Amino acid sequence: METYITYSRAKLPEEWEPFLEKIEGCIQCGVCSGSCPSVQMMDITPRQIIHLLRLGREDEALAANTMWFCASCYSCTVRCPMGIEITEVMAVLRNRAIERGIAEPRSLRASRAFVEQITHYGRIFELELLLRAKLAYPLSLMKDLPLGLTLLRKGKINLKPDIVKMPQRLKDSIAKRL
Ligand code: SF4
Ligand code: SF4
Repeated sequence: METYITYSRAKLPEEWEPFLEKIEGCIQCGVCSGSCPSVQMMDITPRQIIHLLRLGREDEALAANTMWFCASCYSCTVRCPMGIEITEVMAVLRNRAIERGIAEPRSLRASRAFVEQITHYGRIFELELLLRAKLAYPLSLMKDLPLGLTLLRKGKINLKPDIVKMPQRLKDSIAKRL
């Protein structure tokens, strides 16, 4: 007798619709996790995220820190043999976590600071980004202060932002997503 697995499309909200067909085709080969430079910091791997989603278990995927450590490097997406857009899946998870008010506050603060800097300067300004992320957590600031001072002394951190003129199309695209 053959056993069939029924995936739970109905349990996932409509934001997932464009991805469902491909997600259902995941063969759980693990190439995505094996290609991921951030996997060691993730509490569950990209492969496991895809598995949870194809079972309709979005809540469990959202409870993981995986999407917050995704560097959007696209390694997983270009290597996935089934053409699954895993990088986009991570972006949808971040948006869903924000919409549902379950985003990890530190990650959210860092993400907002990142987007604001890209919008204002056209690229990131590390010193401000670090200070904004760390000032909310003084203990962490104290811990990292010696390293920060060393980097500053060696000229590895700019004191002023480099300003790059961004194409209008890119500005519009960012504004649409805010
Ligand atoms: S690489 Fe693609 S097919 Fe393989 S586990 Fe990851 S998502 Fe699934
Ligand atoms: S896009 Fe994200 S999940 Fe995919 S390999 Fe890069 S860091 Fe990992």
